[in-house]
Amino acid sequence: MPATVPDLPLTPARPIPQLGYGVFKVEPEVAEEVTAQALAAGYRHLDTATAYRNEEGVGRAIAASGIAREDLFVTTKLWNDAHAFDDAIAACEASLERLGLEYVDLYLVHWAVPSQGQYVEAWKALIALQECGLVRAIGVSNYPRPQLEEIIEATGVAPAIHQIELHPYFQQRELREVHEQHGILTEAWGPLGQGKSDLLENPAVTGIAEAHGASPAQVVLAWHLAHGIVTIPKSVTPSRIVENLAAAELELTAAEVAAIDELDRPDGRGGADPATKTA
Ligand code: NAD
Repeated sequence: MPATVPDLPLTPARPIPQLGYGVFKVEPEVAEEVTAQALAAGYRHLDTATAYRNEEGVGRAIAASGIAREDLFVTTKLWNDAHAFDDAIAACEASLERLGLEYVDLYLVHWAVPSQGQYVEAWKALIALQECGLVRAIGVSNYPRPQLEEIIEATGVAPAIHQIELHPYFQQRELREVHEQHGILTEAWGPLGQGKSDLLENPAVTGIAEAHGASPAQVVLAWHLAHGIVTIPKSVTPSRIVENLAAAELELTAAEVAAIDELDRPDGRGGADPATKTA
């Protein structure tokens, strides 16, 4: 039996499965196969992006799965070269074409790219895309706090979700507080630390894993879930695809969650800084 993944409320009409399958750095030629494995394992939430160049493969796996469209939650993202209003609309239509879908459940601006100065315009395009029904929910990714607050101020529309780098070594407490104030869900990218650190060998994590007969990756994912964070781990290894989903059934004690909370580091960021990221 696949693990039961809880839903979190995203829009009044559409909840989001809290644990999904991410396909960053999944080569286009294997995307169909690994996405099919994830769907067979029981994932119902997929996270891709224009920039990943694998939307076609993801779409083929969806089509072949026979899973009813309303039972799937699909996210894709607008790349940095298409923040101008008309470009953003066209980019979304092109993503839908590649995915073979009539709508996506969630569309995100991938990066704010503050120096480019079009993050408000891109957000206005997403609002229009939601109004015309091509996307069910809209959000952003990698918006520093000032840019996040600016788009809300400029449009009166808060993103339903903000996808940011987040893992035990980089816990983003300030942004998470801002999200709470605005009713924005937090979604973690790089939830396992992207293999860039010793996170999965950290004794605090491995000790809890041993106590539960679980893997360190499962413990880290269970920590995200315990905090109400949406998480989208990636793996192309069949056993890990299954293992990561099963984290939905692992419940940590409050003391275990608190012990992992202690791992936050000021220099824990592993990816690009959204404040200085250029297109
Ligand atoms: P991740 O933290 O999910 O790490 C993935 C890596 O962790 C794998 O390549 C593998 O090496 C390792 N791993 C996976 N499962 C494991 C297990 N059970 N045990 C041990 N090691 C394991 O990093 P990610 O893929 O960068 O992030 C997840 C998803 O987030 C992506 O696939 C993508 O969908 C999304 N993402 C979004 C952005 C953005 O800018 N919005 C950036 C990066 C990733």
